[in-house]
Amino acid sequence: MRRPLVAGNWKMNGSRAMAGDLFAALRRYHIGGDAEVVVCPPYPYLDLVAGLLRGSTICLGAQDIHPAVEGAFTGDVAGAMLRDCGCTYVIVGHSERRQLCGESDLLVADKAVAALREGLQPIVCVGETEAEREAGDAVAVVGRQLGQVLGKIEREEMLRVVLAYEPVWAIGTGRTATPELAQEMHAHLRALLRDADPVLADAVRILYGGSVNGANARALFAAPDIDGGLIGGAALKAEEFAAICVAAEGK
Ligand code: PEP
Repeated sequence: MRRPLVAGNWKMNGSRAMAGDLFAALRRYHIGGDAEVVVCPPYPYLDLVAGLLRGSTICLGAQDIHPAVEGAFTGDVAGAMLRDCGCTYVIVGHSERRQLCGESDLLVADKAVAALREGLQPIVCVGETEAEREAGDAVAVVGRQLGQVLGKIEREEMLRVVLAYEPVWAIGTGRTATPELAQEMHAHLRALLRDADPVLADAVRILYGGSVNGANARALFAAPDIDGGLIGGAALKAEEFAAICVAAEGK
């Protein structure tokens, strides 16, 4: 039985005041029961949000990690620092980092390895662009992205990895994948996990991400291989985010 998970990715949004207001509003909804809930604010607010989350069941996550343990990497943040701030999760390989920062499949896999080494659970994002889907390459692209991760991580450690299928054309566009399309890709990802080890297919959670909101979450989460969501824009609105979490709890 996989516990549903909803992770909110604030991206480069928010402020100290916004974080305070959001959690004041979220507290009214008592979220984080049957579903696990994670919020991933920008680095400067990790400490603040860790304080706001104290006493709640909501977990803290970061949006990126550097693969090295420490050293001369100006502007980067190490996994041990994230742990130190109270993070238990970290997003790796978000399509914005793959596209805007040129992150390769190999670097993303190294970041997932670093997260596990530091005791963090990586949320590894995979997903095809619109052009790749139109060219009929979607399955091959996500297979290549996952393959790099499976090639670097021991089976036992893979049990702590969360996957997120995020078709790039659905992120921030309002063009949510249909539950059928998303389920098809999730089933494919699960089949790839099964090829690596049947235990992984049953245990690893696969989130869907791409314009999830309070209105479409329930239908997406009803699909058998969708174990929750990675949420961008709607994670900044207490009511929407709470509705998504409630939909995951009913899964
Ligand atoms: C994301 O950035 O991971 C995401 C899914 O964004 P949105 O929900 O805004 O599409």
